[in-house]
Amino acid sequence: LFARECTFMLGCVAMKQLPEPILPEVAFAGRSNVGKSSLINALTGRKTLARTSNTPGRTREINFFEFEGRLRLIDMPGYGYAKVPKPMVDGWTQLIHDYLRGRAVLRRLCLLIDSRHGVKSSDEQIMDLLDKAAVNFRVVLTKADKPKSGEVQKIVAATIEALKKHPAAVPQPLVTSSEKGLGIQELRAELAGFAEP
Ligand code: GDP
Repeated sequence: LFARECTFMLGCVAMKQLPEPILPEVAFAGRSNVGKSSLINALTGRKTLARTSNTPGRTREINFFEFEGRLRLIDMPGYGYAKVPKPMVDGWTQLIHDYLRGRAVLRRLCLLIDSRHGVKSSDEQIMDLLDKAAVNFRVVLTKADKPKSGEVQKIVAATIEALKKHPAAVPQPLVTSSEKGLGIQELRAELAGFAEP
């Protein structure tokens, strides 16, 4: 699925711009700089699909990508960046709330968390929202090549503990590194399971 054609569809800043919900969707969310663009690029095998940026909080859009008319990947704007002005944060929050609540075709959300930092309070807020909206989500730990392996195991254990409070969560986080290709194949296979035949 992912080795074939993946095309950028559109970027949305408002609900009325969202495309018709006619295909299954998998969304990606996480704090700014968590490695979301890198992960989407690693998954799709395209270097420039999601723009890698060292300017956290710059992208305020929901971006849609489509695979062969079978599945859509949704790149949500990063959150938790302190320097973003409050009106922007409020606009973001509203768009995310609206998208998550009303999207029947949304099958899974991948919640990216940096494997050096673990679950932060801004992640907890999103998890509460996902529970309320009954959006099935899995934590994807990113940049697992950075900490020592023992440290990653500690974060995995702490994450599993934190996820017990969240009924919408898949209990086990997935450990990934876009840089080393760790966990990418597994994630691809899992997401392909949500695609139309
Ligand atoms: P985004 O803001 O969430 O889209 O994050 P980016 O994909 O732009 O990545 C933020 C920074 O983390 C960049 O400097 C990336 O090179 C770095 N990064 C992303 N993924 C990895 C990874 O798997 N390993 C390492 N070591 N660095 C990564």
